[in-house]
Amino acid sequence: MREAVFGLGSSSGTPSASRAPGSTAGSRRVGYLGLLCVVEASLIDRRVGAGNLGASMADYYELLGVDRDAPNDEIKRAYRTMARQFHPDVAGDDPTAEARFKEIAVAYETLSDPEKRRRYDMFGEGGPGSGGSDPFGGGLGDIFDVFFGGNDPFGGQRGQAGPPRGQDAEMELELTLEEAVFGVTRTIEVRMPVECGRCDGSGCEPGTHPSMCHTCNGEGQVRQVRRTLLGQMVTARACSDCGGLGKTVQNPCTECRGDGRVQGLRRRDIQIPAGIDNGQRLRSTRNGPAAPRGGVAGDLYLRIRVAPHELYSREGDDLVSRLEIAMTQAALGAKITLETLDGPEELTIPGGTQPGRVFRLRGRGATQLQGRGRGDLVVHVDVVIPEKLGAEEEDLVRRLAELRGDDVAPADHGLLSKLKSAFK
Ligand SMILES: [Zn+2]
Ligand SMILES: [Zn+2]
Repeated sequence: MREAVFGLGSSSGTPSASRAPGSTAGSRRVGYLGLLCVVEASLIDRRVGAGNLGASMADYYELLGVDRDAPNDEIKRAYRTMARQFHPDVAGDDPTAEARFKEIAVAYETLSDPEKRRRYDMFGEGGPGSGGSDPFGGGLGDIFDVFFGGNDPFGGQRGQAGPPRGQDAEMELELTLEEAVFGVTRTIEVRMPVECGRCDGSGCEPGTHPSMCHTCNGEGQVRQVRRTLLGQMVTARACSDCGGLGKTVQNPCTECRGDGRVQGLRRRDIQIPAGIDNGQRLRSTRNGPAAPRGGVAGDLYLRIRVAPHELYSREGDDLVSRLEIAMTQAALGAKITLETLDGPEELTIPGGTQPGRVFRLRGRGATQLQGRGRGDLVVHVDVVIPEKLGAEEEDLVRRLAELRGDDVAPADHGLLSKLKSAFK
């Protein structure tokens, strides 16, 4: 049985990523199966205006800076040069160097082995025999998946022999708190392998057609019957001659050299659901990197990062903030205008409000992602005691203390009283 692993390489943790030298603040980190690359993405925010963040997905060839048809010794040279540059012993305190070094090592390990390189060229990273773990094996339990465009008809076929599927990619998407609470439509542009326009992804020169693979008779898989102690066992594995497609390309497209993919910009409008929270991931089905020769594109995962808000932080479905009021307002009561995410709202502070009192504005919190309604806006009140009092203010407060019979410190710490005591 062919063991195909498609998807994000690690099921256990959040991928850490490296930042390529020279990348800008706008570059976005993208996990690319087990390997992580820096990509340049261009995110155009429809609601807030235009902002460009850059992103692209490097493959093994790009990582080593060689052409797809580079001979073995050129790959070796490129690897040595880069390994010297990023080796942790040499790179010093550059925190990204180690991750970069590992990426380069993985790329070299694959491309320097003719068989692994052939598979990589055919299937990309995560192809058969490349190792990795099943990303759907439970490690994503804490991740909320949103399926765009309906059910994934290929979902049930993962791990079976068949046409190669594109890799999955992951990128970070930063939202404001308002966007996360109310939802937003974002246009995302990511540099990644896309279908070749010249051959429509078939890999065949226009006007030509792929021919049936004779090894597997067009089935894409080769069956083997084995006799075992328990009887006959039939196993199927992907046909190695056609990469599971059942077809071979006789006249490769000159643009993509028969691969069906070229580097390009994938531009998609993605609806971010209201209520999404920091750290959650969205899956945009089949909007990831194209598969070779007309296979099914991978998925694009969007790791959501919600930028800190000036006034509010999120706790579950509630939004929490602190409100400073004057001691006079606490004592006498006040009406205070709050800038909520829904606009200005009046909060009535009753007289005699104690420090630490909590007010709840029902339904003014964050949207519940999978439920109806919204959480509350929770306001913690701080009563501000003036650190310094003017002479008149001090008189008034002292009178108040007197009226209430409060035992207060005598007025002996002012400049005037110091002067007075100096002349006594
Ligand atoms: Zn092409
Ligand atoms: Zn075949």
